[in-house]
Amino acid sequence: MSKPTFPAASVLGYPRIGPNRELKKALEAHWARKTDEATLHAAALQLQKANLSKLAALGLKPDDASLPGDFAYYDQVLDATLALSALPTRFADLADANGAIDTAASFILARGDESRAPLEMTKWFDTNYHYLVPEIGETTPIKANATVLVENFKAHAANGTTIRPTLVGPISYLLLAKAEDGAAAGFDPLTRIDEVVAAYAQILAELAAAGAPWVQLDEPGLVTDRGAELAVPGALAETVYTKLAAATERPALLVTFGYGTAGEPTRPGATQGLLARAGVEAVHADLVRGALPTAEFLGELAGSTLVAGIVDSRNIWRNNLSASLDILKSLRTEVEKANGALAVGTATSLQHVPHDVALEANLPAHLPEWLAFANQKVAEVITLAKGLSEGESAIAAELSAAESAIAHRAGFAGTTVAAVRERLANLTTADFSRSDAQTRKEAQEAALALPPLPTTTIGSFPQTTEVRTARAAHKAGTLDDAGYEGFLKAEITRVVELQEKLGLDVLVHGEAERNDMVQYFAENFDGFSETENGWVQSYGSRATRPSILWGDVSRPAAFTVPWISYAASLTNKPLKGMLTGPVTILAWSFIRDDQPLSISANQVALALRDEIADLQAAGIGIIQVDEPALRELLPLRAADQPKYLGWSVDSFRLATAGAVDATQIHTHLCYSEFGEIIEAIDALDADVTSIEAARSRMEVTADLTSYGYSRGIGPGVYDIHSPRVPSTEEVAELIDIALGSLDPKALWINPDCGLKTRGYAETEASLANLVSAAVAARATL
Ligand code: GLN
Ligand code: ZN
Repeated sequence: MSKPTFPAASVLGYPRIGPNRELKKALEAHWARKTDEATLHAAALQLQKANLSKLAALGLKPDDASLPGDFAYYDQVLDATLALSALPTRFADLADANGAIDTAASFILARGDESRAPLEMTKWFDTNYHYLVPEIGETTPIKANATVLVENFKAHAANGTTIRPTLVGPISYLLLAKAEDGAAAGFDPLTRIDEVVAAYAQILAELAAAGAPWVQLDEPGLVTDRGAELAVPGALAETVYTKLAAATERPALLVTFGYGTAGEPTRPGATQGLLARAGVEAVHADLVRGALPTAEFLGELAGSTLVAGIVDSRNIWRNNLSASLDILKSLRTEVEKANGALAVGTATSLQHVPHDVALEANLPAHLPEWLAFANQKVAEVITLAKGLSEGESAIAAELSAAESAIAHRAGFAGTTVAAVRERLANLTTADFSRSDAQTRKEAQEAALALPPLPTTTIGSFPQTTEVRTARAAHKAGTLDDAGYEGFLKAEITRVVELQEKLGLDVLVHGEAERNDMVQYFAENFDGFSETENGWVQSYGSRATRPSILWGDVSRPAAFTVPWISYAASLTNKPLKGMLTGPVTILAWSFIRDDQPLSISANQVALALRDEIADLQAAGIGIIQVDEPALRELLPLRAADQPKYLGWSVDSFRLATAGAVDATQIHTHLCYSEFGEIIEAIDALDADVTSIEAARSRMEVTADLTSYGYSRGIGPGVYDIHSPRVPSTEEVAELIDIALGSLDPKALWINPDCGLKTRGYAETEASLANLVSAAVAARATL
């Protein structure tokens, strides 16, 4: 029997937040109890319908399952938890009479309630999207609940639209889960796979009964090292999909593998071949982050469709259509040898890019032509499918428009700036190193004369409504430059006076002038632009608006110096200048696809190096370069990590190595679980590193000691993620734990992170307790 052929053009998923963040508004109104659940459901359905009609208008067929059915109120992994009724024990009371999790209960899983914390949130592969981590134990209920999926399918079918219901696949679901607290030591959620597969089989049967011709199961877990072990012949991926495919009552299956190469990296296409032979009708490959499947494996497609994820869904650049078409044509030749078919798709869901370039009215004139957001990418997929079936002449206009945009981009003055290139080309190893740490330490001790256990903060002070209002007024033009500068100076004065009053040793200016720790830098560097509406979901109802790095980076003028030196002029205490590091600036922006990230990182590093030189010249003796995203960009595969750590550490060193011995360089990393990258953190060669540590009660200090870490270290002594004020005793206890393993001369006392999300009342009280605990500890040394 021949397998059904997957639609020739499709996308793996579409942004869920809405072109005008409709979903955010609907969710937040509901959570604030301003609307009831029926209103929320109606708003969500209306948004989905609008999105689907947009996709159909762009050319995806409404009736052949090429339209993605990937809507989620909060998160796609949470939705799989709902489909499995997999309520963790600590939420067991939320089950309804059938053991199912309803919408209200799902929001408690996502957001917690008075008595319990929400499900943990963590990064979705190497993206800035965050999912809710399933908590699976030996007895977590696993029971199919297809109601939401079936109802959603039917709601659109009634409207004449055949969507393709989409779920995180069973293997990835369990790979993304963590063992529930209280599970036996070493318990692996994957041991529950048989029950999960049985539940998926039932869900598939119910969707088939409702009329769904295709269902998409996302298995990005198989692009990791752990997943690769499960993708070899005879291992879990084969058994799971053989079982799912064997059912007679089921829709046709598309299994996707975004975010890299599925299975063994040296055998691209092997996993797709394996699943095709297991009976799966369509298999996907990410051709952007993953390797091109080789002819050997394409020959194993067994009549299945290969969905070629050739349009980049993680970045915003216009596709090189003619290059893509060439790849697609050669793939098709191989695929057809195995009686398979080739379809065109995206590398992953489009959830990682904004909706529509057409919503940007204020980009620099050269930029829109170079860009493709979700809607433009859908059009690219359709164009490529058309070119593939009808030949180049059928898409001649699109090919030539893409070609001229790409040529324009390559030749544009700001894309390659000779002065920037020359500076990079002339770097020597000396530009990446400072003198030895001990010499610096002595010079800094003499210059700074700090007490033992110096107290400081991580940089930002509360961003009050007044601060945000003034910034918005300045942007809107209702507050002039002079008025805004006066406002910021008054704010800085207040923050410095407060720190003096509290008795902190190293002060900061408070970062009131910054909308965001990355965007502020992008706005002040050449080579970056900002969007107005380029929102991308970060988690739940939250979205960020990444800047676009499109050209060679340089810094036209000092920009942090005026604020920071103004703050320094108000105090006799050392004032710490505050910058964002190169990796973090790139990690939270859309990046160039026309050069290695390491080159962009060094360009940003040189721009920061100029700023550091100017801060130093202005008399600033301590400069912090934040790199909270250093660990975020760590490649998924262990084999790829050393190279990344090499260039990322180098870029930090390039940014900071111009500082003289007496200038103390700090860095801040938001996390503390850095077992695997501790060497890299040491190699940053920062004089002082602050990290998060309060919630784990200083667990990290023992690791640092066993590593032999000898630099200054500020493990956070209180958690800034909640308004709770820590008592002096609590802070003192944590200082005591740290002193138990760390050299008192190396220890700094600071909060876990910046204070911008906090209010002044709790900030003042917490910092007062921090200072008194530090002063008391000092007396015991
Ligand atoms: N200096 C920044 C702040 O205090 C650091 C923020 C961060 O680590 N994410 O806000
Ligand atoms: Zn932080």
